[in-house]
Parts: sequence; C-alpha cells; structure tokens
Amino acid sequence: MSELPKTGREWHLVARPHGWPKPEDFALREAEIAEPGPGRILVRNTHMSVDPYMRGRMNDVKSYVPPFRLDRPMDGGAVGRVIASNAEGIAVGDHVLHGLGWREYAVLDAKHATAVDPELAPLSAYLGVLGMPGLTAYAGLLEVASFKEGDAVFVSGAAGAVGSQVGQIARLKGASRVIGSAGSDEKVKLLVEEYGFDAAFNYKDGPVAEQLKKAAPDGIDVYFDNVGGEHLEAAISSLNVHGRATLCGMIAQYNETEPTPAPRNLVAVIGKRLRLQGMLVGDHASLQPQFVQEVSGWIRSGELKYGETVVEGIENAAEAFLGMLRGENTGKMIVAFGG
Ligand code: NAP
Repeated sequence: MSELPKTGREWHLVARPHGWPKPEDFALREAEIAEPGPGRILVRNTHMSVDPYMRGRMNDVKSYVPPFRLDRPMDGGAVGRVIASNAEGIAVGDHVLHGLGWREYAVLDAKHATAVDPELAPLSAYLGVLGMPGLTAYAGLLEVASFKEGDAVFVSGAAGAVGSQVGQIARLKGASRVIGSAGSDEKVKLLVEEYGFDAAFNYKDGPVAEQLKKAAPDGIDVYFDNVGGEHLEAAISSLNVHGRATLCGMIAQYNETEPTPAPRNLVAVIGKRLRLQGMLVGDHASLQPQFVQEVSGWIRSGELKYGETVVEGIENAAEAFLGMLRGENTGKMIVAFGG
C-alpha cells in the first residue's frame, strides 16, 4: 500500500449558517488518510452530490438525519473508484456508491458501499437520475401520491433533479396533463420543449396561484411539492376533489430565519377531501429494483431525459452547493473531481 496517498482534502462546516449560508461557513482542509482495516476499502471519490437536505443538516437541530458536526468532514452521496481493498468481494478498480462525499478519499466499511457499473450508466447518474433523487421522484409520485392514469399533475422545482423526473414519469405513465414551475425562462422552455410537459411557468413572473390556474384550467389531481410556501397554497386552490399532494421538500423556506406562514387556504383540504402526505425517500428502498429497471429502460429508449449541472473541482464544492440553493442547476447538481 506504499503508493497510496497519505493525505487528501475534505470539506468541513466551520460555522452554522443563520439564513443563507456563506462561503466562510465552509473550509477545505487537508487531512490524513487512514489505511483501510479489515473489511474496509479506500475510495478515490470522483463525483459527489450537493443536495437541498444538506442545508437542514447545517442547523443544530434534531431531525431525521443528524446535523453536520463543526470542524468535522461533511458527508453525503458520492461515487468513486476503489484504490485499496481489505474486503472480500470488492477489488481495486471497482466503482462504488457510498455516503462519504465532500472529500477526495473515503475509507469505509465495504458493507456501506454499493457496487456501480460505469458501463451501464455514467457514474454521475448514480447520484441523480438512477440514484436518490430519481427514487424520490418515482416513489413520491407512484406510491405516495397514488398516481393513476388520467391524473393531471403539477410539480414545482420542475427543472431540478427530482422535479424533472416527476413530470416525465407522470407523462410516461399516462397523465392527462403535466404542469411544471421553475425559476427561469430557459428552464420553462426546457420543460415544454425537451421534457414533454404540457405547460410550464416561471414562478418569478407573477402570483403562482394565477399562473397555475391558467396552466391547469380544469384543476390538478396530484401536486408534487418541492418548494412549499406560495406554491403549496396555490396547489391547494387548484387541487380537485380527492386530490393528493406529496410533500417532498420545501426549499423556499430552508434559509428562512423565522417560522413561515402555513397555507392560508388549508380549510379547503376538508371540503375537497385532499390528502397531503410527507415522504422520506429512505422509506421506499423496496422500490429500488423496480425503479432502476423501469427508469433505465426509459433512458435507453430515449423516452426519459435528464440533465446535470457539473461543477469541476472539489475546491468548488461549497460554491456548487450555494449555487444549487440559488437555482443555478438544471437537473442534478454534481461536483466532479476526476481521479
Ligand atoms: P433541485 O431541484 O435539483 O435543486 C434545487 C432547486 O430548487 C434549485 O435549482 C431552484 O430552482 C429551486 N429553488 C431554490 N429556491 C427556491 C424558491 N425559493 N422557490 C422555488 N424554487 C426554489 O434539488 P433536488 O435534489 O431535486 O430536490 C428538490 C426538492 O426535493 C428539495 O426540496 C429537497 O429537499 C427535496 N427532496 C426530498 C427528499 C425526501 O426524501 N423527502 C429527497 C430528495 C429531495 P429554480 O431555478 O426553479 O428556482
């Protein structure tokens, strides 16, 4: 193991953000790399994910995932190449998906790594379209929202990793109408011209409720919420009787410093017998094989498209995360650092 690197760079959270995170809240530091003990592997990461849920982990509050610790390496989805292995069944040169992103080198127990095949799909796809965000879209639409053929579906954050897949899966599964909202005219154009949405609008152009009513004059049956706030209130107004909403994310409030108001029209849930259901992707692991099989088939046939915004260089990872919060990504935001 003499040629193995002795140190590598890793990102630490050095201050807990109040409101929008700032570049100074993060530091890229050089750290020693441990030799992999029995059952463990050393991975040279090549791609890492920056995700909205990481913003919640920067707060020191109890949640479904523990907060990041200050002055310790952050973590999250990553893929890379095994460069040393002390574990049966994983060889040097294999590629794996695991949870120790935000660093160049990861030493981990082999049982926490999943082998991935770069011949079947580009490595970055295992962090996006075929990974956690993809499964979120698939399970959130089909299982949580109980989507059925003929439903009219509205998805917010529609040009992002989860949202772009929700809209296309709805179309492929026979939605009567697919509507998306996103934060730029380029994204809106992409949704309609490339991803086959029936209608899309820029939520920055005017009140969401008005734009949604125009785009869905007969109402909607399913709302997939990635944004919360004004979007959720608008969707409640447009949902038809027995409509369902998957509450997947509320990114509009992740950087708020005060509690945000609830939808003012919540009473409509009663009269319209709506079902609003929260979801966590981790509850839907049993759908993984079916999801990969169906979605990879659609990718191969060209029926489902996906985008990625790739930021090069581990030194730009914090900026990539901030850029994702600002909407600079189309599709999955990925940080790539070769190797
Ligand atoms: P993403 O959509 O690829 O990236 C985030 C996007 O959010 C940005 O590109 C931006 O696009 C949009 N955004 C930022 N601030 C906004 C605001 N104030 N109002 C409206 N849109 C805003 O991220 P993702 O990974 O696919 O995640 C999407 C949502 O799903 C997030 O809320 C995330 O927390 C949630 N999620 C939940 C689970 C779960 O298990 N529950 C799993 C994965 C993801 P625009 O340019 O359109 O503003």
